[in-house]
Amino acid sequence: MKVSIPQASDLLSGVVIAARLALHDRWSAQRLAAYQAGLFRQSVRHAARSSAFYREHFRGIDLTRPFRSADLPVTNKRMLMERFEQVVTDPRLRRRDLERHLASTTGDSMLFGSYRVVASGGTSGLRGIFVYDRAAWRVILANTIRWQRLIGIAPQVGRRMRICSIGADNPMHMTSRIPLSGDVGLFRLRHLQATDPLPQLIAALESFQPDALVPYPSVAALLGREQIAGRLRIAPRVVATHSELLTPEMARLIEQAWGTRPFNHYGMTEEPNIGSDCSLHAGIHLFEDTTMIEVVDEDDRPVPDGVMGARFLLTNLYNRVQPLIRYEVTDMLCKAPSACACGRPFALLETIGGRSEDMLRLPRADGRPGLVPVTPMVVGLAVEAFLGVREYAAEHDSTGIRIRLVVPDSGERHAIGTALPERLRHDIAAHGGVPPPLDIRFVDSLERSAQRMGKLNIVARTRPAGTPGEAAAAAPN
Ligand SMILES: [Zn+2]
Repeated sequence: MKVSIPQASDLLSGVVIAARLALHDRWSAQRLAAYQAGLFRQSVRHAARSSAFYREHFRGIDLTRPFRSADLPVTNKRMLMERFEQVVTDPRLRRRDLERHLASTTGDSMLFGSYRVVASGGTSGLRGIFVYDRAAWRVILANTIRWQRLIGIAPQVGRRMRICSIGADNPMHMTSRIPLSGDVGLFRLRHLQATDPLPQLIAALESFQPDALVPYPSVAALLGREQIAGRLRIAPRVVATHSELLTPEMARLIEQAWGTRPFNHYGMTEEPNIGSDCSLHAGIHLFEDTTMIEVVDEDDRPVPDGVMGARFLLTNLYNRVQPLIRYEVTDMLCKAPSACACGRPFALLETIGGRSEDMLRLPRADGRPGLVPVTPMVVGLAVEAFLGVREYAAEHDSTGIRIRLVVPDSGERHAIGTALPERLRHDIAAHGGVPPPLDIRFVDSLERSAQRMGKLNIVARTRPAGTPGEAAAAAPN
């Protein structure tokens, strides 16, 4: 393995920053909030000064006086991608050149010797390109170290800890980029591709024997079933999922398979480390000293803690090259009304409810006009109640819900074919909606699309052909 000097120096700086961030664990919530508000104002003023887009976006707002986040208009991916050259604060960064760099990037290579460029898949087909200077990347590495410590991954004397991540297969995506950048030999790392066939994943895992397993939850559940059935034999002491929803059933399966409760990490290409749960698993601690999350309703008004928002607004507090301020993300989040018993001051995410565009909107069962929103989790929870289901994917649109199931046992297939529609009709009716037509099919396997970084659409609204979606909780991804 070859480690470049900038790579080693960035990681060393990351370690120093992580030590500083660790001190915030002992702060009060008030002190943390004041610190975050200070960073938010700095980020906004920097953007207004250095980015042509934000100068125009904030026109007419007096930023020299104290201001609140709600005083500022929101942004979204389309805006920031369409006006990429006006958003970034270094005029050398042209979207076309970044795309060319991405197409040829290998290892931890940097553009102009200082920029790391990553891409995301795209909700509604719009691909995002995000660029980080070395100062910002050091914060990403520091947060990654913070997450590793939270879940019990640390360099050891003697035998190096073996960490196996399973995610995207492309160095331009975060799930492979962070391990590439952070690999200076402290751990034994192996990265497997979520799109690989199951027998290949099993063989690679059994030969590597990871101490820590870092997969998408749907992959972890699939592997957990293999382990329980005796077809996979590994003994990770840490399982940490990312990038998709970790449902309660998936968490139960993982715990049953390896005797350890999974940690869940939340992030996306725009902000790779939004947060992670601690060993109490009471929810995801938001890393509020590097990111600001505002949970809002459909009109971008804040919702109280304990209430599920329609989307959230993300402000990255350290990316000075491509400022993201009050940037709309359509994941539905719910903050916990109370603090974690571990004593850390960081707010907790109680639920990640999936993407608001994946909500089912069904005619009301009481006959009154209008549609009733039903969370897609209703479908996921109903399917996952059947232990014979090895994998599934569901899509819905105005014509109904289509569910594809991988159920190896033919007897169970018959039972599920009868019981699942009954259960779904019951659960949807309990939410006040008229159950739509159901199309349930049994298949031998589900394709994981490389375009979607190997993630599964657990329950998604059908998208027009040629516009791959992007899963909800995206991660060091
Ligand atoms: Zn905690």
